[in-house]
Amino acid sequence: MSNNNYVQRENFIAEVYHNENDDELLNTTEILKDKYDYICKSINDEGYTLENPECNLFKELLYDDMVVGFVTYDYTKGVGDFSLNEIYVLPEYRGNKYFISELEYMMLSGSTVSIYEPTHRIIEILMENNLARNIVDNLVVSSISLDINQDKSECTVSNHEWKDDIIHSCNLYDLNISACILPENISDKDTNIIHYSRCLADDNKHYSADSIRENIDNDYFENIKNSIIENHEEYVATLMELEDNKPTADFDIDEIVGRPPNLSGYLEELIAEEFVTRQRALEIQAQMIEEYDEGLILSESLLKRLEYLSMEDLINEDKMAEGFDSSEFDMKCPYCEFPITLIDKTCEVCGLRLDNDELLEYAIFDELTKDIVENIEEMRRNGLSDEEILEITKVFGDDLSSGYSNGEELKKMLEEIVENELNK
Ligand SMILES: [Zn+2]
Ligand SMILES: [Zn+2]
Ligand SMILES: [Zn+2]
Repeated sequence: MSNNNYVQRENFIAEVYHNENDDELLNTTEILKDKYDYICKSINDEGYTLENPECNLFKELLYDDMVVGFVTYDYTKGVGDFSLNEIYVLPEYRGNKYFISELEYMMLSGSTVSIYEPTHRIIEILMENNLARNIVDNLVVSSISLDINQDKSECTVSNHEWKDDIIHSCNLYDLNISACILPENISDKDTNIIHYSRCLADDNKHYSADSIRENIDNDYFENIKNSIIENHEEYVATLMELEDNKPTADFDIDEIVGRPPNLSGYLEELIAEEFVTRQRALEIQAQMIEEYDEGLILSESLLKRLEYLSMEDLINEDKMAEGFDSSEFDMKCPYCEFPITLIDKTCEVCGLRLDNDELLEYAIFDELTKDIVENIEEMRRNGLSDEEILEITKVFGDDLSSGYSNGEELKKMLEEIVENELNK
């Protein structure tokens, strides 16, 4: 097709559409039919399936001044979170890094971006760009969260239901069956509950996902579970390394909250839109300046923190109304009490900086101790004496004591635990 027919933006600025009403999503297919019939035609011609044709936000992708594709998002849980649920670029304009540029743009603007039901091809692009890595067998670790929800996913246990029907995120992907992998209670020896994303048309077309899935059984998922457990340390280490490679925003505190007695443009706008009173805006400014000075907020999450504080009262009211109970979370943010993970540098909800170093050290220590204790019998069968087993323990302990702040202490604890076990 001649690109004379393409929609053009003379100012080189992409149009963005978003829904005004939270309950009413935009219909992506209708937007395409109304405004971009050539994109519609291209999608049909190549037999591409829009798996999630509804969104909160639709954004054009431009080549010079021409619209050559689009990306859509669904706002998921919490504040400032964007779940990318579709991206399409006309075939002749691919190879211009639209997808990666879009992710980088979102991250540099301080938003947390995740991908809803990624295709296998999307995972390959993440891997090529150091945002995901193949750790073992077919398992890939992704530093961009991958989202799935119950309605549209499969589970190793039939009729098993999640307690809540919010969207769930994971960081694991199986290249063989082309699925996001979300294990539940992985340390439970008696059950093996793994949620995994449904078969997508694109994966079927390019990776024969359907026929591969026909041949998998419980043993297959048992292997995945074992593989996750055995490679847990590498999984965490890889995730942290990938996390460090991610581009981050670099906000200026003066720009975000303004320098007293003046308020920033952001805060003035929140007042104008009656999100906050002037009094509340001044409180937020004072609180954030203090928190920033004390190192409790990283520059990358200043905007997220501002968004959270401006909505804090509403969020707390919601929590009360819903009977929010943080005691069910293993790890939670000390400020807002929403769940966090070991690798989060900041709270994804309220933007507070998290200090997980000690927790992480302990998790690695715990893992190592279990590994050694569980292998004592096997080492004995292989003819090792208790003394030799202790020697091996000491070598591992040395690694701990050199790598971590309280390593010496951990080393002693490790040796004591193994000694006790040997004397049983
Ligand atoms: Zn389940
Ligand atoms: Zn849940
Ligand atoms: Zn928080």
